[in-house]
Amino acid sequence: MDTTKKVFVLTGAGISAESGIRTFRDSNGLWEEHHVEDVASPEGWQRDRELVWRFYSERRKQVLQCQPNPAHTALAVLEEALGDKLFLCTQNIDPMHESAGSKRVVHMHGELLKSRCEGCDRPPFYDEALYYSEKEIPQCECGNLIRPHIVWFGEMPFAMRAIKEAVRSCHLFITVGSSGAVYPAAGLVREISYRKDMGEDTRSIYVGLERPDNADLFDEVVLGKAGEVLPELLAKIP
Ligand code: NAD
Repeated sequence: MDTTKKVFVLTGAGISAESGIRTFRDSNGLWEEHHVEDVASPEGWQRDRELVWRFYSERRKQVLQCQPNPAHTALAVLEEALGDKLFLCTQNIDPMHESAGSKRVVHMHGELLKSRCEGCDRPPFYDEALYYSEKEIPQCECGNLIRPHIVWFGEMPFAMRAIKEAVRSCHLFITVGSSGAVYPAAGLVREISYRKDMGEDTRSIYVGLERPDNADLFDEVVLGKAGEVLPELLAKIP
């Protein structure tokens, strides 16, 4: 691949499916048998902190047993070639990109293996502990409870300014395994389509099992499993 060009890659739950981590779509809009509003919203957290922590503790236990697949590895190899010309942005909260060797990953929806205070500005910290009952949930020095470092529905994704800047300057935009239904991530490709209409040198490709909701905005849609299609696709791009 031309190492002078900037590449933006957005990954979604589909890239981790072959690592054994289920997507939303696999479970009819439920997340591992739970309604998202119960386990992934500020209201759910206020209602039942124990349920929320039990849910993320199960997810932690699960990802610690999973391995990255060839799609994650192909992106780590791409980073070695492109350095900071690659902007890797993931909607995933799992650590599969890092496990595959990627160093610069922007987790716009947070990270499963980090926690933070629900009330104060103490920075998020690495945490693989499991909390199954309300009394196990740790307290911050400020007296508030520790919550998962996850962006819940209704909360603002992280690093949006850097993400938008990177989308505005990339020559190639690739989305892997994202249904195109969760915003603002699903709207990023719109900027590429606009820049193209303005005559700019930029191109977009979607890789995934099925056509996403925003498929019409991509220049190319390549259907297939990420672990099979992505390594080959990246190797072929001039
Ligand atoms: P989604 O579940 O809405 O959609 C997943 C997409 O991946 C689908 O379009 C599906 O066709 C595709 N897919 C399934 N298997 C695939 C494979 N082997 N190869 C390629 N594509 C495949 O996912 P989303 O759009 O990322 O949105 C879900 C939200 O849920 C995200 O915000 C994310 O934070 C959260 N989530 C994260 C994880 C994770 O961290 N692994 C898992 C589930 C949900």
